[in-house]
Amino acid sequence: MIKIEHIGIAVKSLEKSNPLFAKLLGKAHYKIEGVEREGVNTSFFEIGESKIELLEATRQDSPISKYIEKKGEGIHHIAFEVDDIHKAMALAQTLGFKLLSEEPKPGADNKLICFLHPKTTNGVLIELCQSIQQ
Ligand code: ZN
Repeated sequence: MIKIEHIGIAVKSLEKSNPLFAKLLGKAHYKIEGVEREGVNTSFFEIGESKIELLEATRQDSPISKYIEKKGEGIHHIAFEVDDIHKAMALAQTLGFKLLSEEPKPGADNKLICFLHPKTTNGVLIELCQSIQQ
């Protein structure tokens, strides 16, 4: 693990939460990006070496809709940057953590990502992410 790449926060509305986080952090978001396959719109704020990722559902069956229904708005996941996602996934599995996908998936902000099952990580949804070279 290299660093905390970002913290993902589930929100009901980017339109409402973007100005709120801009006020809190003292700067505006630097991008909004949809991930259609996951049914989310994301918004990113840079904060030091890390980022805040706001996640808004774009449809009812989105994981973010379900999360907000169950738990309300709030911290959804912590993302750790890794050098090599395939190696990191294999290591995590060897160490007894359960992966939520067999293969890395394309995520927002030019990343390959994989989540670890929160049942194996003290209830915290962990995202492993590797930057894709452009
Ligand atoms: Zn994320």
